Amino acid sequence: MFLQSLEALNVFHTDIPKLPMGKYAHIITLRETNSFALFQTDGELNISRVSLGRADATPSTRIVLFKRKQSTPERLTGRELLRRYGLVDECKYNTDKFCKRCPDCIYYGFAIGDSGSERSKILVDSAFSVTGYDMSHQQFTFNAPSENGTMSEDGKMKTALGEQDYVLPQVYFPAVVTIKDPTEAEFIYVLNNVLRTKRYGAQNTRTGTVANHITGIVFSDGEIFSNLQLTQAVYDALAPDQRKMPLAQSAVLGAMQEVVPTLLREDGVVFQLIADKQLDTLLQEVTQITSNEQKLVTVLTQANTEANRYAQAYGVGAKEAKGKK
Ligand SMILES: [Zn+2]
Repeated sequence: MFLQSLEALNVFHTDIPKLPMGKYAHIITLRETNSFALFQTDGELNISRVSLGRADATPSTRIVLFKRKQSTPERLTGRELLRRYGLVDECKYNTDKFCKRCPDCIYYGFAIGDSGSERSKILVDSAFSVTGYDMSHQQFTFNAPSENGTMSEDGKMKTALGEQDYVLPQVYFPAVVTIKDPTEAEFIYVLNNVLRTKRYGAQNTRTGTVANHITGIVFSDGEIFSNLQLTQAVYDALAPDQRKMPLAQSAVLGAMQEVVPTLLREDGVVFQLIADKQLDTLLQEVTQITSNEQKLVTVLTQANTEANRYAQAYGVGAKEAKGKK
């Protein structure tokens, strides 16, 4: 065992099972923008019309952080580490050259037309901003100044280069990252990706810094509440004078801690919630591993061995063996 504090709980598999076995680990996260973020598709900020709270059913417009905008940067964080420590080299993301064997391919899944697919064992859903769209975004117009530092050249005004709709700093997106049937190494791998990923949204910008605050870990025998339900419950738990920009981090974190146990009881699943002091201990244990090169490589190697073994038994390896018969 890598994590002593979870040793008695029996929440991990020793091998990645072929079929779903009803063991879930849910990482409950509060994603907080720390600068101006671009969460757009085709040049438009993604928004959705929903009720403000569960108790307060007033309709409102919220900013949406789509599933792939969350999972892609987290996958890339893990892949970067696998390459840095020489565990994977021939695996090309989002192409038909996925290796079908590494922890990224096996945990997060892939689909390559007719030549195979692996179901994702990491489930992520769209997340919704706690504060409404109106107060949480800002349009910026970009001008390119001339070399003389003014907006005019040869007496003519330069035209604006374009407008971008940015999400403001201190906008919060409560989000659950679910791992189905995790091994211990898989759990640490995915949690490390969430903890280390600091940039989301448009990849070609140097902005978009996001901090992920882990507010709880839930081990359960089934699915739990959605991101939207969590956001609405958090909204209800905030005092009316707190529901404005800038929204204090301590207020949102407090609301998350308050509502999660209630939501879990409504879910009607068997669960163990790791929160408060227990969570601090667990996160300390995890960062002691992920900030120590030798320990980190041990976990990554373990994850890689398990993923390779799974691929050999049930994935690409099994298919190759069938083909030879
Ligand atoms: Zn791969």
